[in-house]
Amino acid sequence: MSAKIINGTAVAKGIRAECQKRVAGLKAKSNLIPGLAVIMVGDSPASAVYVRNKVRACEDVGIRSTVINFPADTDPETVISKIQDLNRDVNIHGILVQLPLPPQFRINQILGTIDVDKDVDGFHLYNVGGLVIGDTVFPPCTPYGVVRLLEHEGIPLEGRNVVVVGASNIVGKPMALMLMQRDATVSICHAKTRDLAQFTILADILVVAVGQPNLILPQMVKTGAVVIDVGINRLPDGRLVGDVDFEGIREKASHITPVPGGVGPMTVTMLLVNTINSAERSLGIDSPPQYPL
Ligand code: NAP
Repeated sequence: MSAKIINGTAVAKGIRAECQKRVAGLKAKSNLIPGLAVIMVGDSPASAVYVRNKVRACEDVGIRSTVINFPADTDPETVISKIQDLNRDVNIHGILVQLPLPPQFRINQILGTIDVDKDVDGFHLYNVGGLVIGDTVFPPCTPYGVVRLLEHEGIPLEGRNVVVVGASNIVGKPMALMLMQRDATVSICHAKTRDLAQFTILADILVVAVGQPNLILPQMVKTGAVVIDVGINRLPDGRLVGDVDFEGIREKASHITPVPGGVGPMTVTMLLVNTINSAERSLGIDSPPQYPL
């Protein structure tokens, strides 16, 4: 078997075209331009690349983005005060704080300052809690992007065995909750899981979000499984790879996402979707039903 390679770039492009139309509609009908504020503390080169990608993606669809940079030694109160200003700013519909933050910050305190209705990353405790009961304001972008990819490929979730490898607050845990919400049977594995392969081999759908190249080898995957590789790893030779042995597993899986060009482009795209949804809600417009939780 040779797996179908899920082209996240192409799926994301289609969704971005819809985003562009929705932004144009908001401008034409209500003279409103969706606004996203991105707060970055410190000068991590990786964060700078992510922020640049988000800004570019916003430009592509007509969202107005503002980046607010603070030096690494900034007092948390200064950032909190800026977030409070942005909460009050009617031209800003989405606020995100680029993670990680320097050590003097308590992440939950910072994220908890963001107005729930502008929390387009979906990391505020209210939004995280909403995932548990299947009713959140903004689904977090990476797992949301994975769900959209699975939907696009027509992969059913109900009753399927899904194994999520990685249990972080921003990917693995919300991913598991969103899949449970769709009636999948979900197992979550993490660094202390004993004998990872005994779980992964049972997966109809395997989602891997760890940050370790070649963690998942072909013998750990069931024939015909759907493999979603969220991991992003830079090898010493400069190549970008995911967490799974792509070449080996594509011979066994039914579907697989490449890295790059799989989940990555979807993450940024779902940020655009969340920001546009927020702008529409600010006018009392319901977001399109094709974007359920
Ligand atoms: P993270 O916060 O470092 O979490 C990694 C998770 O993997 C933790 O839950 C950890 O377990 C688990 N883990 C570590 N070693 C393991 C092992 N040997 N077996 C099973 N589980 C193991 O990372 P993250 O932020 O979730 O990101 C994960 C990866 O996805 C990274 O490569 C990141 O760059 C990538 N990512 C990609 C996108 C995208 O858009 N494609 C978005 C976000 C992140 P413990 O909880 O027990 O420590």
